[in-house]
Amino acid sequence: MARKKKGLLLVVSGPAGVGKGTVDGALIAKHPEIKMSVSVTTRAPRPGEIEGVHYFFRTKEEFDRMIEQNAFLEYMHVFGMNYYGTPKAFVEAEREKGNHVILEIDVQGAMKVKETCPDAVMVFIAPPSLQILKQRLVGRGTETQESIDVRTATALEELKKLPRYDYMVINDVVEEAVADMEAILSAELNRTERNAELITKLTGGETI
Ligand code: 5GP
Repeated sequence: MARKKKGLLLVVSGPAGVGKGTVDGALIAKHPEIKMSVSVTTRAPRPGEIEGVHYFFRTKEEFDRMIEQNAFLEYMHVFGMNYYGTPKAFVEAEREKGNHVILEIDVQGAMKVKETCPDAVMVFIAPPSLQILKQRLVGRGTETQESIDVRTATALEELKKLPRYDYMVINDVVEEAVADMEAILSAELNRTERNAELITKLTGGETI
């Protein structure tokens, strides 16, 4: 039997409060073959966050040990205080099974992943406007004023890096953003370079 095709690696970035989690969550709910990578972080859990679902919460010492063991696909110091990292093993195992994996990570981490995995599909989720983004952060009610100011300033810096991504999805209406993500997945799966095996079968390996 032909070996199942390797799954896609989807890197999703976007400013805090843009609704990355909502869009990705809705996409995964519709497509069981898409899996979310759970990052490791040294930051404290927010109310309602669950170990192993939102993050693996670890001490700085435990995080350092994982760095030594080369257990991260990438890791990053974010907002000048906390560490975040993507465990390598889960991503590789799922892609080998033919499942697609989403990494919800910041812009710096995303660029590192692109270096290590050039076939990663880079998607940036953007707000319809900066004003709407700020309103969403305030409405979330989990952030202090200082944190909102830091995150708004960071958001602008992140938005400036938008052209480094392959795709931009505007999260105005969630269902429309999900449909855009589905269209991206579908287009990527149909890229000629991801279908080399079938092309060889069709042509007997003779392409011009
Ligand atoms: P939060 O503290 O709001 O959960 O996340 C802060 C930032 O860290 C977000 O931009 C989020 O995308 C990013 N982040 C979460 N996990 C990772 C990770 O594994 N690696 C990197 N580089 N960034 C991450």
